[in-house]
Amino acid sequence: PVRELVTLGKLLDEGVTLIQPALRQHNIELMQARSQVNDQEVEVDPDQMKQVILNILLNAIDAQREGGVIRLEGVQQKGFVGFVVSDEGPGILPDAMPYIYDPFFTTKEKGTGLGLSVVHRILDQHGGKISAENRRERGVQLEILLPLSSERG
Ligand code: ADP
Ligand code: MG
Repeated sequence: PVRELVTLGKLLDEGVTLIQPALRQHNIELMQARSQVNDQEVEVDPDQMKQVILNILLNAIDAQREGGVIRLEGVQQKGFVGFVVSDEGPGILPDAMPYIYDPFFTTKEKGTGLGLSVVHRILDQHGGKISAENRRERGVQLEILLPLSSERG
């Protein structure tokens, strides 16, 4: 598999560039916290990781529909770095939560249900992980973690 050493910040920037037109179209502001975490390096297939970022941001846009703010920030925890995406949409129904990573599971009229299953597979292949939870206020928070390059064998 393709593996390149890239900073988290570069990955996020590339994903964000791809999503800009959709953000503009839906009048949604992306608030990106700049942090030191962005300088950390991960060993990834950059194209696949771009897909991960894109699919997650697209879901946030779908959830939000029009206006509002999506937050994106780098996170770090013992041996892993990654990012958190929070939206202001309606959140995920508790009944749906166990199935969101299943291929073809969708609650959207024109959804494919493939986005998060692809995300999950890509993260598996990178030794990473993903978790989703409803926020207390409203919306969903998704956390994506990748092993720090120094932690890989
Ligand atoms: P699709 O976007 O085609 O529906 P996904 O695999 O990307 O397929 O997502 C599966 C389902 O997970 C969605 O249909 C939706 O029910 C739920 N979901 C994912 N992200 C969010 C989000 N940010 N807010 C609300 N629901 C979400
Ligand atoms: Mg999707």
